[in-house]
Amino acid sequence: MAARTDQVTDPAIAAALLLARRGQAYYSRKLNELSDADFDGPSLLSGWDRRHLIAHVGLNARAITRLVEWAHTGAETPMYASPAQRNEEIEFSATLPTQALRNLSDHAAIHLTVEWRDLPEQAWSNEVRTGQGRIVPVSETVWMRTREVWIHAVDLGNGGRFEDFPAELLDALLTDILGAWDRRREAEGLPRYLLEAVDRPVPTVNTIPDATAAREAIVVRGTAAALARWATGRGTDGVLSSDGEPAAAPRWL
Ligand code: ZN
Repeated sequence: MAARTDQVTDPAIAAALLLARRGQAYYSRKLNELSDADFDGPSLLSGWDRRHLIAHVGLNARAITRLVEWAHTGAETPMYASPAQRNEEIEFSATLPTQALRNLSDHAAIHLTVEWRDLPEQAWSNEVRTGQGRIVPVSETVWMRTREVWIHAVDLGNGGRFEDFPAELLDALLTDILGAWDRRREAEGLPRYLLEAVDRPVPTVNTIPDATAAREAIVVRGTAAALARWATGRGTDGVLSSDGEPAAAPRWL
């Protein structure tokens, strides 16, 4: 059945879609392991119980779906009307009955998958605007969703672990985060970091331009999973820096 197949043939996008779908499956599995009563418990994100987190992840799928529809039709449909509207929608949805929250999560994820599947090959480079105001090709929405589902599966706080993440995902996260810090380094006075992933054949992941800069960098060492956990602001378990336990990482997004 041709209609069930992705329209895109670009191998990089196809691989990215696979990682997003694996992430959605991982997130859904962790969510389905929660009892209705568990929904009222805390997530690992300060200020959000699981209901708020589950509402956010479902609404994020809907918002990303709007970007894919925008790329498909040319009719501008932003992720969110405003940050206030985004937050109000999360607050409201967090109060839904548990089954309705489960349905929101499932249906929004399926709808997004269908929109990606049906996006014509030539439309994948059409530009859309992210929630942060960046103009990106719509293919970027795959990575936007990928990092949401994998990391928020951990944030559900019922056993999801960065150690479960595929190696390619951990490497992509570290590259993405270092790039984000590089772009904000001067404006925010961020230190340079040299990340040494001890479970990689070449154990350094960094964006240090020269030897002088490398000497001034803060070295943080750990497995790629531990480094990704630290760099995404989820704690210092399993990472060490040259002077002991590293300070909290700068914000990522
Ligand atoms: Zn999120």
